[in-house]
Amino acid sequence: MNASVAPDPGRSPVGSGGPVVIVGCGVAGWTLARELRQRDKDRPITLVCADQGHFYAKPMLSNAVAQKKAAGHLIQKTAAQQAQTLGANVLPGTRVVAIDRSERKLLLEPASAGPLAYGQLVLALGADAVRLPTPGLEHAHSVNDIGDYHGFREALTAAGAGARVAIIGGGLIGSEFANDLAIGGFRVSVVDPAPWLIGNLITQDNGEALKAALAGLGVDCYLGDVANSIAREAGYYRIALRSGATLEADVILCAVGLRPRTDLAAQAGLAIERGIRVDEFGRTSDPEIYALGDCAAYASAARPDIAGGAARALPYIMPIMTAAKAIAATLAGQPTPIRFGPMAVRVKTPALPLTVSG
Ligand SMILES: Cc1cc2nc3c(=O)[nH]c(=O)nc-3n(C[C@H](O)[C@H](O)[C@H](O)COP(=O)(O)OP(=O)(O)OC[C@H]3O[C@@H](n4cnc5c(N)ncnc54)[C@H](O)[C@@H]3O)c2cc1C
Repeated sequence: MNASVAPDPGRSPVGSGGPVVIVGCGVAGWTLARELRQRDKDRPITLVCADQGHFYAKPMLSNAVAQKKAAGHLIQKTAAQQAQTLGANVLPGTRVVAIDRSERKLLLEPASAGPLAYGQLVLALGADAVRLPTPGLEHAHSVNDIGDYHGFREALTAAGAGARVAIIGGGLIGSEFANDLAIGGFRVSVVDPAPWLIGNLITQDNGEALKAALAGLGVDCYLGDVANSIAREAGYYRIALRSGATLEADVILCAVGLRPRTDLAAQAGLAIERGIRVDEFGRTSDPEIYALGDCAAYASAARPDIAGGAARALPYIMPIMTAAKAIAATLAGQPTPIRFGPMAVRVKTPALPLTVSG
């Protein structure tokens, strides 16, 4: 499949009027709404989201336990407050179940909320936490949004101070949680098949240094190992590892990656390639539909530093900001290609602060 969408003079990316509907109230959806409003005071903007749509910084989820922050404390503005600030409409608790591209409307759940007509549509749907088929893993939490964080924190509170937490996955998010939970007074174990922590993003030297720094906080790492099964015992979990070792935990967190939400776009016939494929303007294979944030996969044209290659998801805040600015300008009538510069993601492990460039 070709990563970059060939320029088509018949498909002007200039905003074609009518309401802009944004599906998703994460960082991507809200940032786009803000950027668009700055450039166009009058264009009707409606955001639709399956969750409550409150505005919060998702990266805070992996360092909020040690700060003893309840989920409600992380909310900077409610969806209604944020929409009012931006002069936008918001439909929280409303799921888009289908896109009717020929009629340019969205079918909603509850059905009484729709159908919703759009002039141009932006999909900012985010990504789902990956769940492995490991027997017993249904007992594990994943923390991918503020609702998940609330449930995880409740489980930690119920388990009590000093409880044992096993983290399945020692990547960026798993390592951040390990550091945060250890500071918060929990006894933490991390299991990951890679030979060193954050194995896909940092060097072996840095990964080993991070493991040593976390060990200083009491974190045990089981690297090069895999959880084969999880059994519920009386009041705790027993995790059998491939190596033959056994772990006991009161709470389990699964942090093994994210998968872009593409089902809605795929059902509507949009091109999918490691995410909802977009060109350098953020347009999907339908010129009136854009995609942004964790659900999108960007053509290599948006990454001058990467020659050729497949479309790529960039599930971090900095690329979302860059793409939102460019898409907003395009929707406001000034076609603006997305150009990602060098990227740096700060790893929130105060035991050994690191920066990952991508
Ligand atoms: C714990 C954690 C820590 C992180 N730390 C960092 C960090 O330090 N630095 C960094 O750069 N990045 C970090 N990230 C990644 C970053 O937070 C994400 O890239 C970003 O928040 C994704 O935003 P989004 O708007 O694309 O998706 P989301 O925030 O997931 O929003 C998706 C929205 O779409 C809605 N939605 C989905 N499907 C439908 C539907 N069918 N109908 C209606 N609504 C729908 C959802 O309800 C939600 O409102 C972290 C991520 C996590 C989970």
